Amino acid sequence: MRYASTRGQSPVTDIDLALEAGLAPDGGLYVPMHIPQLAKAAPWPDLASAATAILSPFFTASRLCERLPQLCTEAFNFASPLRHMHGERDFLLELFHGPTAAFKDYAARFLAASLAALRDNTAPTRTIMVATSGDTGAAVAAAFHRRAGFRVVILYPQGRVSPRQAHGLECWGENIHTLRIAGSFDDCQRLAKTALSDSELRARLPLGSANSISLGRLLPQIAYYGHNACTFFAEHGQRLNFIIPTGNLGNASAAFLARQMGLPVGDIHLACNANDTLPRFFQGQDYAAQTTRATLANAMDVGAPSNFERLRYWHDSDAELRSAISASSSDDATIRAEIAAAHTHHGITPCPHTACGLAALHTLRKAGDHRPWAVVATAHPAKFESIVEPLTGQTIPLPAALAKSLARPAQGEPLANDYSALRQWLLALPSQG
Ligand SMILES: *Cc1c(COP(=O)(O)O)cnc(C)c1O
Repeated sequence: MRYASTRGQSPVTDIDLALEAGLAPDGGLYVPMHIPQLAKAAPWPDLASAATAILSPFFTASRLCERLPQLCTEAFNFASPLRHMHGERDFLLELFHGPTAAFKDYAARFLAASLAALRDNTAPTRTIMVATSGDTGAAVAAAFHRRAGFRVVILYPQGRVSPRQAHGLECWGENIHTLRIAGSFDDCQRLAKTALSDSELRARLPLGSANSISLGRLLPQIAYYGHNACTFFAEHGQRLNFIIPTGNLGNASAAFLARQMGLPVGDIHLACNANDTLPRFFQGQDYAAQTTRATLANAMDVGAPSNFERLRYWHDSDAELRSAISASSSDDATIRAEIAAAHTHHGITPCPHTACGLAALHTLRKAGDHRPWAVVATAHPAKFESIVEPLTGQTIPLPAALAKSLARPAQGEPLANDYSALRQWLLALPSQG
């Protein structure tokens, strides 16, 4: 498989180079030259086997090809259970059973394992740049912590993540550096992108990306959609439809790829928060990136979703894209109401992001949709206890992995929302370690 840039101005490359580069040299996002077909896929016994089968066609001609089963076993070592919520057709796809209790653990672990396997032991330390609206940074930090030859620089918007999320970003040390930026997530993302496209900087400091713009983050996410959709299809003879809490559009792009590969994924609905750039587009308005607004579902506080560029690339027109995917938005009052109602009526405690998904499901049901839908539960509610607990009146038990990271001391540094400040900070890093 070969990979091209969405902007068409970069040389076609292979997956190994695309993984190491993150962003294409022309500032575009890497995309596979064609989408492999897996229509005859049988249900797989577990997620790691599904991941191996689904990812294999993307890794032909890769140095990782033969090690793929091992990499998938390492990365996909926690389950993605599809739970009945209530009734016969409402499901919750729980993706938060990993080390930092968010779905991003899957892809971060796969990317870290892949980059480590690709690494030449004599190469200089590679600095992975990651802008985070809360969960990415922790997942990437956990995945790269103490991996020889790698260092991670996390940029997160100061004051815009929950206290537990902030701790989860700052609790690592050693090869993980955490910078609190006086700005929004979009500012952090812009800083990271600017560094990654600064060729003079890259010549002095080998960089890499771990944001959802990286193919190494996007592709592994196809696995849990494919695995659960195939299992569901084998049992029910029906496609499973997905409601996906959406910010930067990485997770939903993976669901879209799963469907394009011929896997039995049905409709895809994007559940956004008050940052409604995507709902506006999918409801027919021209695409217009917006200034980010802070909401209770902060990992989705994105006004200019990066992966939109990929979705546009995969469609001939905006009209075609609008017929492939739908979207809706929930404000903070709706998020609060959904959390309280889910707890009272169904004994479920969703995180604020998952609550946007539940709100979208309610709207679909009210409109008379009777098909099976899985709301993707993107994070464990214990990460957002300061929002969720007052609404449910109950303490959320802490998953073991979160308890462990909260027990470590926090260590982060403030940095101005200014590229020259970041550049200077990066150039002062030691060349090794
Ligand atoms: C990152 C994140 C999202 C949004 O996922 P995208 O791939 O950016 O669309 C939703 N919920 C949680 C909990 C997240 O961490």
